Amino acid sequence: MYSLRGAEAPLFHGAACGGSDEGGYFGAKAPVFFIFYAALKRRSSTVLPAAGQTEAGISGLKPGFFYSLRGAEAPLFQGAACGGPDEGGHFGAKAPVFCTLYAALKRRSSMALPAACQILYVLSCANLPAMADVISSASIHEKHFLSDKVSQFTESVIREMTRRAMLYGAVNLAQGFPDFSAPAEIKAAARAAIDGDVNQYAITWGAKNLRNAIARQMGVWQGIAVDPEKEITVCCGSTEAMISTLLAVCNAGDEVVIFEPFYENYGPDSVLSGARPRFVKLRPPASENGEWTFDEKELRAAFDKHTKAIILNTPNNPTGKVFTRAELELIRDLCIEFDVLAITDEIYEHILYDGTEHISMASLEGMRERTVTINGMSKTYSVTGWRVGWAVAPEKITNAIRKVHDFLTVGAPAPLQEAGAAALGLPAEYYAKLAEGYRVRRDHLMPALESAGFKCFRPRGAYYVMTDISGFGFEDDVEFTKYLVKEIGVAAVPGSSFYRDARDGARQVRFAFCKKLETLDAAAEKLGKLRAR
Ligand code: GLN
Repeated sequence: MYSLRGAEAPLFHGAACGGSDEGGYFGAKAPVFFIFYAALKRRSSTVLPAAGQTEAGISGLKPGFFYSLRGAEAPLFQGAACGGPDEGGHFGAKAPVFCTLYAALKRRSSMALPAACQILYVLSCANLPAMADVISSASIHEKHFLSDKVSQFTESVIREMTRRAMLYGAVNLAQGFPDFSAPAEIKAAARAAIDGDVNQYAITWGAKNLRNAIARQMGVWQGIAVDPEKEITVCCGSTEAMISTLLAVCNAGDEVVIFEPFYENYGPDSVLSGARPRFVKLRPPASENGEWTFDEKELRAAFDKHTKAIILNTPNNPTGKVFTRAELELIRDLCIEFDVLAITDEIYEHILYDGTEHISMASLEGMRERTVTINGMSKTYSVTGWRVGWAVAPEKITNAIRKVHDFLTVGAPAPLQEAGAAALGLPAEYYAKLAEGYRVRRDHLMPALESAGFKCFRPRGAYYVMTDISGFGFEDDVEFTKYLVKEIGVAAVPGSSFYRDARDGARQVRFAFCKKLETLDAAAEKLGKLRAR
């Protein structure tokens, strides 16, 4: 099956060779397979016979042979199931076998190629009656209970690394949550709310006190006027605000532009909302004090008539990039030109270094009516477990977000929303101290990482530092972080969790520094062992 290669592909004219998003899953070994796939997908079911002939041309099959297996027989190719609507939908009811093969290849990835290719081989050699025997001897009537969407992503690697840190008793610099106390005033406000019997549901889209405080705060910090009655939805963390927003605005076939590396939730969020992510690279700084940048042409190329939204996270996780006004204006111009929404995750709004300034996209001229601004209490007030976040959007979009949110979670914790209202009233010094505290931590951890052999990319905001691990000679980031947590005793996040193609992050590892100085010291001491390796 591997005998056809690049130059021969044009034989299957028009089919081309599958984009990197198709080919990437199968590796260089399976050009024939994804030529089939591309042929079927691009020509869609009306031209299936033509694609069938293409197959026949390769394998000597009769056209139509591939269509002989149907729904219930698909589980024969176990685990592969029948392809989700995005796979099967393109081929219509006629081609379950084809999409089964595709699913098998895609899900098992190239390691399982031999098995999937054997299936293809069986199909191409066997005659129909023999195939029927194979089918009847297998357990073909087992039901497939799981959602096809869910099979397209894994559990969060960030959260998995926290579990590993606990398993090995390692210092956890993986998941971004503080190990120090939240401000006493807001804990007191939460206690007071519980003592005052704020125990029942708040208004589904958020307690009035909190919405008023959010509106006031957006006015003070960003000069954005917000109607707390019509434009705010309080959710269970900004995580829920993001997925509720995407579910509220995306239709199948929509595309969402995402800068890469990206906070890992955005990938599954896109899948769950039926949108197709289009990634645009942020490139690491060339010099020690440089910035992560993107290519204007590459960004423009990601926008087209299918683009529904761009997800923008500034200050950025994992890179620490703080988007400049000029960059935001460039994105703004594309949003307006292509009639696209900006969905901005501004959860690190107050965590800024080196004189950088946070600019909300909604404050830019022309963007207020096409921006959903997402934020929350977690990072600003060191309460990641309280799960209080929000989405601010124009009324029509807010109405849609509120519907999704209502049926997903009904509401965020009521007493903690009251504490949120108190938190948002903290004076400006609180935020200055917060940022300064993180600057000290950043400047504490970075030298320790550098002297252990990491190359660091200096963050300008948020509380992570991305590093380059090329100096250590490990196979990849995953091997490295496994070693680091088990043998050295420090948990970090493998860079590949922030990229669509794992190879792009294979030389990067992220450390969180939202920890007490003594925790960072403990990590530094352990990292010292790396040098001796
Ligand atoms: N934002 C945090 C991180 O990147 C984690 C958030 C979460 O786990 N929900 O580590």
